[in-house]
Amino acid sequence: MTQTPSTLKSPPVKALQRFHIGQVGDDTVADYLGSSFSLAICCKRCQRLVEWSPPDLERRFGDRLNLRIADIAERLTCAAEDGCGSHDIAVFPHLYDMPWSWSGAKA
Ligand SMILES: [Zn+2]
Repeated sequence: MTQTPSTLKSPPVKALQRFHIGQVGDDTVADYLGSSFSLAICCKRCQRLVEWSPPDLERRFGDRLNLRIADIAERLTCAAEDGCGSHDIAVFPHLYDMPWSWSGAKA
């Protein structure tokens, strides 16, 4: 988790409850890195919100750039110390608040 300042906010509860995995489409980790998107992760049950910034995404998934965000989302759990344990997690892109440029996959 990144401790940098962020403008990320929880989505409205109605939008959160309507979220379904099909909304994520076929975007991949590489798409997010190339677009300076953070992956915002919000638990539908307790509304706990986490941001995986582009550096976080690269650190976690830098060797699996073609991984679909939807596939990541399906495996997420609200599992940190203050999490509720729910598997019902919404994800959405958030434009990263810090400067970020990505030169593509490291060979
Ligand atoms: Zn939760």
